[in-house]
Amino acid sequence: MKKLALHWKILIGMVLGVVLGIVWQQFMDQGYVIGFKRVAIPITKQIILDWIQPLGTIFINLLKLIAIPLIIASLIKGISDLGDISKFSKIGGRTIGIYVLSTLVAVSIGLITVNIINPGNGISEETINQLMVDYGADAGNKVAAANEQQESGPLDFVVNIVPDNIFGAASSNGNMLQVIFFVVFFGICLLLIKPEQAKPVKDFFDGLNEVILKMVDLIMLTAPYAVFALLMNLVVSTTNTELFSALGKYAFAVVFGLILMLVVYLIIVKLYTGKSPQFFMKGIAPAQLLAFSTSSSAATLPVTMERVEEHLGVQKEVASFVCPVGATINMDGTSLYQAVAAVFICQALSFDLTFMDQLTIVITATLASIGSAAVPGAGMVMLVIVLESVGLPAEKLALGIALIFAVDRPLDMCRTVINISGDATVSMIVAKSVGKLGSPKVKNWDDNLAE
Ligand code: ASP
Repeated sequence: MKKLALHWKILIGMVLGVVLGIVWQQFMDQGYVIGFKRVAIPITKQIILDWIQPLGTIFINLLKLIAIPLIIASLIKGISDLGDISKFSKIGGRTIGIYVLSTLVAVSIGLITVNIINPGNGISEETINQLMVDYGADAGNKVAAANEQQESGPLDFVVNIVPDNIFGAASSNGNMLQVIFFVVFFGICLLLIKPEQAKPVKDFFDGLNEVILKMVDLIMLTAPYAVFALLMNLVVSTTNTELFSALGKYAFAVVFGLILMLVVYLIIVKLYTGKSPQFFMKGIAPAQLLAFSTSSSAATLPVTMERVEEHLGVQKEVASFVCPVGATINMDGTSLYQAVAAVFICQALSFDLTFMDQLTIVITATLASIGSAAVPGAGMVMLVIVLESVGLPAEKLALGIALIFAVDRPLDMCRTVINISGDATVSMIVAKSVGKLGSPKVKNWDDNLAE
């Protein structure tokens, strides 16, 4: 019998997690009836939190655990395989340029969508008050987090890329750009020394890279169970679902924009690389499903890299640089969402936006998405900065964020899928442009394991 492909297994895990979560919510709320008696189900939420949730947490930890070693090993191997610094600067320049361009396209799609759908018109005063009561405190925390981020100087972003201690930098997944900086520097110097001196270092990192890729393979075997745990936990922890419908039009605008962005990727991949939409989707699907389940591009990174390299045919020299940089600075889904959310909030609070304000959103949402961390909910913190840039009064900021809080997690899951799909697309474009796009190494995850 033909083995079920990994993405199907993950999908089944996700569906089961959601279905069982909903079933559990129904029973917990209402109990079930035996004869004439209504009996509460004995599985309390605590049991799920104690026994199911840890499976998901362990899985995310495992992925994060190998992210930094993977970047170090594969980027050093990638740069040293290039054999020539000018090739690397070509890849670097193109990557950054295309990332900025794709983000601008995403924000524009978001703005067009929200201006056509107008989701904020007609939100009642009553709904706004209810949302403020329910989410005001959480929203206040996000605004405070954004204010902290803003208290930095104009060059701090660049200064922060250069670490003063590599072990310090490598000790936190939030410092990915610092690690990349060190590794690129190291890799370039490896190219500058005598080949016979570089060889043992290169061989060591080649071997390390293979070991870590095998670790990704093994971790992925548990993915279907882990996503089951993650999604079931998410569903049982969700409260106040009635407000979902009040925000339905807004959520629709975000999801519709994200789908349009995915279509743009598929068209570009087809036109520029000649690869079909099925090829792209099949290759990247497991990473997309994980992005959806974890809401974190950083946690998904090891899988994104593996899929891009082994299933989309991007050679290591390109994938090892483009993917980790993308996970940190390229967030098309996040920027699109920030544009839609900013306009929605202004519409709902009757704060008029001029054409110039919308242009301001294009610039600030692009920068804000670059500055957003690749973790759940980060896009919402940076949204505060976008709202401030169009002049939304300080006292309305928390109210604005409270408006969208209820549906933020599901939208975060969707935008993270687009974030990693964008990284995969750009990897293919850059690879094609420098002649480093080949055929996939393995056709199936299980073949990979059987090797
Ligand atoms: N969760 C997103 C990511 O990790 C960032 C965000 O939009 O909140 O890519």
